[in-house]
Amino acid sequence: MGQNNSYFRHTKIVATLGPATDSPEILEKMILSGVDLIRLNMAHATPEWVNQRVQRIRDASRKVGRQVAVMMDVKGPEIRTAKIPEPIELIPGERFEFVTEWAVPSGNKGVSVNYPNLPEDVEAGKEILVDSGLIRLKVVTIHKDRVVCEVVIGGSLGSKRHINLPGVLIKLPALTKKDEVDLAGGVEAGIDFVALSFVRQASDIEELRAYLKSLGSKARIIAKIEDQAGVRNLEAIIKATDGVMVARGDLGIEIAYHELPLVQRQIVECCRVEGKPVIIATHLLESMIDSPIPTRAEISDVSNAIREQADAVMLSGETTTGQYPLEAIDVLNNIIDTIEPTVPNRINKDIILHQPKSKMLRSATYLAQELGEESGIVVFTRSGFLGYVLGAMRARGVRIFAFTDDEVVFRQLLFPWGVEPFLMNLNEVDPEDTILNSLEVLKDRGWVKIGETLVVITNVLAGESTIVDTLQLRLIE
Ligand code: PGA
Ligand code: MN
Repeated sequence: MGQNNSYFRHTKIVATLGPATDSPEILEKMILSGVDLIRLNMAHATPEWVNQRVQRIRDASRKVGRQVAVMMDVKGPEIRTAKIPEPIELIPGERFEFVTEWAVPSGNKGVSVNYPNLPEDVEAGKEILVDSGLIRLKVVTIHKDRVVCEVVIGGSLGSKRHINLPGVLIKLPALTKKDEVDLAGGVEAGIDFVALSFVRQASDIEELRAYLKSLGSKARIIAKIEDQAGVRNLEAIIKATDGVMVARGDLGIEIAYHELPLVQRQIVECCRVEGKPVIIATHLLESMIDSPIPTRAEISDVSNAIREQADAVMLSGETTTGQYPLEAIDVLNNIIDTIEPTVPNRINKDIILHQPKSKMLRSATYLAQELGEESGIVVFTRSGFLGYVLGAMRARGVRIFAFTDDEVVFRQLLFPWGVEPFLMNLNEVDPEDTILNSLEVLKDRGWVKIGETLVVITNVLAGESTIVDTLQLRLIE
């Protein structure tokens, strides 16, 4: 398959599905407007909801003739307050209790939490933050089954609100029971990526990978970096994962907020060196939840992510509950189209390439850049690996056409920077046939024009049975 498009965008767009976007009509518009990955946030979702939504996404894709990848975002070790019949008002100065699930409420206002170790993990005088830090409390006294706090900044506390304990290593498993149930449902429905929340160490990724394998899933893993442990173990986590998300919603609370831009840069840089794709997430266009235009600061923030050459930018509230989901996607498109061409042409020299064939990929990007904007790289990849490495080269202005014969790999190739995937049969015995077919597809879909020269990475048969890796120049005729 592959998209029908003439403008080549390097930076990809992720949008989260929610009530504002999950009608088939809006979904079709969203896919047509250039969203590459759709995120299903499992914070409030059930496997049934996932199943239905994946069906809807695939139906919409078929209808409009453009594919998107589906990412399931599982919540990991997240502390949440209980479901309550109606919101509780917290007033500054008053006492409020967090109780473990089996504790009986005392005279104070309070709510139970899904974390039995809370009393052990907090300290008197330290802060407990609720709902992205909108509500703040100070710990006063700690009992076996309850933590009594003083409300510092009040507000209305709804159901299942997320709690942050900055700097505390939560004693919950990397994959909770709910995550496992969610994943089993997601795999059944056909998800392409899994984003794991609050990844704290590389073994969290390995655990998820083993679980996915036991389910027979080929989904790629995206590690959400959103607390101090994740930042501390960044390098090992990036080596273990297939991709990364800078989850600024929680990260901005778990670390000092003024360090966020530095940590974002550090994560993006580390991903560049390791050749792993990275998403910048949360609050990119937050004001567009109820405004048709973004703030000037948001425009600058998105531009910064594009200049840092993150693989993708992500929308959350803007497309789940916002009033202007399609406008928010347009804004991202416009900023990308304007800023991208101004980013310096610098090929990534830092990725360490082991195999001669992967070393050839870097040479291919130099060659294509030398040939100019009309050129591009054609690559054939069954596992997706070559496409991912080419994206990581950050060859600005070079189009990467990645052909695969695997539908899941095809959708997974929608994520890395500057990769345009195509689904096509790869001729096992006759590489020349595969090359000619790919060039035909590119010409038919309007990606290339007669007279352009492409760089093709392929292998040829030399003599009877020797396979030789080659880099070729192919003129479009
Ligand atoms: P969330 O993750 O939306 O699942 O919390 C993203 C973030 O924290 O930024
Ligand atoms: Mn988060």
